[in-house]
Amino acid sequence: MRKSIAIVIPSYNEATNIDVLVNALNETVSNLSYDFKFVFVDDGSSDETIAILKEKAKLHDNIFYVELSRNFGHQNALKAGIDLVKNDADAIISMDGDMQHPPKIIPKLIQKWEEGYEVVYTIREEDKKLSYFKNKSSNMFYGLMNKLSDIKFEPGTADFRLIDKKVAQVFSDFSENELFIRGIINWVGFKQFAVNYEPNERFSGKSKYTFGKMMRFAIQGITSFSTKPLSMAIILGISLSVLAFIFYIGYVIYSIYYGHVISGWASVITTVVFFGGLNLVVLGIIGVYIGKLFMQSKGRPNYLISNTNYK
Ligand code: UDP
Ligand code: MG
Repeated sequence: MRKSIAIVIPSYNEATNIDVLVNALNETVSNLSYDFKFVFVDDGSSDETIAILKEKAKLHDNIFYVELSRNFGHQNALKAGIDLVKNDADAIISMDGDMQHPPKIIPKLIQKWEEGYEVVYTIREEDKKLSYFKNKSSNMFYGLMNKLSDIKFEPGTADFRLIDKKVAQVFSDFSENELFIRGIINWVGFKQFAVNYEPNERFSGKSKYTFGKMMRFAIQGITSFSTKPLSMAIILGISLSVLAFIFYIGYVIYSIYYGHVISGWASVITTVVFFGGLNLVVLGIIGVYIGKLFMQSKGRPNYLISNTNYK
């Protein structure tokens, strides 16, 4: 019997990309001897994404759609797809729906899987086609992640990877509310292999990761994998207290020699504002963790499926 491979594609307003992607995928897999299923997860799109998917599913029996009840975000949409196919597929490939993840890499991913690797992930080579900002911000983000958390993140990794059934099964049990899948995949271990690729430009449409969203995603990634920001807050607090004490001693000695001097209103105000700001930052860090506890304690599902033809 042929092994089966599911390709899970979270899609949010990708109506103009589906055709190209399906054609490219079909072309890639046509000379591979596996049973392929293309599983598109419509993440609450407001364009014709779901209508087009339904149309496609009618015409081709290897295309499936999963309609989420609203927009749950890329990570949750991906989890929805993996959860759904994890018992049928021998391997699951996840990729974006905008052609940025080139389908022609897929045979390479499968080849490595056949060699015994259980996670075959991809590393995007720094590329001129992506904006300077995207390259730089992504490198900075991974640098920061590595400083602040206990697992290693490689720059250029995205949610374009193949995972073995075994990995999909364990991943499915993760009930983290704020998913950061690339971190979890790194955390679970198993035999991993990295494949390099040159990214394409988004075929059409706009990126859904705006600057604000990227920042939120970064904070989510860091705080999901480490409590280092909390210990850094303590170290910062202690260092500043020591500094203040030294200043105080210095001031006492100074006033013994030169008498009591009152001046420097500006520096006092600056200091007050600075420490006020610092207090808020540290409280904010604590707040982020408390917020995570709050969200998690409600135990809500990561996504809701309203409709699917997957079987
Ligand atoms: N996506 C999604 N839900 C969202 C945002 C994005 O399913 O709320 C999908 C999107 O359709 C695409 C993938 O996630 O297939 C990556 O998104 P995008 O291309 O906008 O991000 P970028 O490549 O710019 O980081
Ligand atoms: Mg993209």
